[in-house]
Amino acid sequence: MRITKVEPIVLQVPLTNPVVTSFGMMTSRTCVLVRVEADTGQQGIGEIWNNFPSWGVYEKVATLKYGIAPLVVGEDPRDIRRIHQKLRNTYTVMGLQWGAIGPIYHSMSGVDMAIWDLLGKHVGRSVAHLLGGVVHESVQVYASGLGPGSFEEFVEQHLEVGITAFKLKVGRDEQQDIANIRRMRELLPKQAKLMIDANQAWDERTAVQRIQRYQEFELTWVEEPLQCDDIEGMARVREQVGVPIAFGENVYGQRQTRKVLEQRAVDIIQPDLSKQGGFSGCLQMVEMAASWDVPYAPHFLGGAVCLAASIQFVASIPGAVILELDANPNPFRERLFTQTITVSKGEISLPRLPGLGFELDEEFVEFYRIPLEHMSL
Ligand SMILES: [Mg+2]
Repeated sequence: MRITKVEPIVLQVPLTNPVVTSFGMMTSRTCVLVRVEADTGQQGIGEIWNNFPSWGVYEKVATLKYGIAPLVVGEDPRDIRRIHQKLRNTYTVMGLQWGAIGPIYHSMSGVDMAIWDLLGKHVGRSVAHLLGGVVHESVQVYASGLGPGSFEEFVEQHLEVGITAFKLKVGRDEQQDIANIRRMRELLPKQAKLMIDANQAWDERTAVQRIQRYQEFELTWVEEPLQCDDIEGMARVREQVGVPIAFGENVYGQRQTRKVLEQRAVDIIQPDLSKQGGFSGCLQMVEMAASWDVPYAPHFLGGAVCLAASIQFVASIPGAVILELDANPNPFRERLFTQTITVSKGEISLPRLPGLGFELDEEFVEFYRIPLEHMSL
């Protein structure tokens, strides 16, 4: 069995309500998929994270086309661990030299996810089974991407499907942040969990002051209070505030992961299946974290393919606290597959089908597929 083709697929749709974070605004949704084909005629699908910056899609597609595809075509997909290692060894130095380790890891993630899907389809088993078996038949999720604008309706919709944990974006305006946290606490039942995500917005002093001010809201965790490369700073904030600190969506590779853990900078690590190296990369990350007794909660803010991968991962790899579910409307999360991924009683069930457990809606994909030169940035 040999891989014969690695194909990038770029989809785009403009957003009526932009997604706002402390560092930028997303005015359109772009979804970057990778389709891997084998000489058996079977295919696998993966997703490459691509929210910010909007023009990052060019780097990802180029990395995939000129860097990754030539090393993957001709390989036997059953050698997935070796393929992952080959890509990592070949391109980590290149990524450091380029100063673009992110795009390298994001592109490797998409191809890794696609090969696992392909393998699962080939042997007729789910990726969760290939990863060692099912630990959870369903996966608890929390709703994120809420704020800084109005979120009442989203909260109501998600409470209705049994979600009991919510994450609010903060880090822009202090008054607005505190008003939003207070409003959120009012909307939620007493036992509901509330987290905040500063998206790297604060300096150390501000982080400590703000988090201490928010004590009354009983936050389950505070995410990325500082810039993600300030590992010592994170450790000091963690020490002073007594509230769990979560991050990991912007931590790349084994060395950085080890540093974060050695410095005792994190309480919950948050790998993203479409950023930190797919199943192979995230597995290394959470296994390393487990040796420091640090659990994981996958980051997710993408399309249905990454969500499906995250479900397989959490269902099979022990140590998960909960899975993120972006609550903003996104056709690439809601309609990319022939079957919708639904939440019931706050959980998503592990699908029964092989691979990632879903099939792409090819008509939908063709409708939203866009040539790179026609993308709006
Ligand atoms: Mg985050």
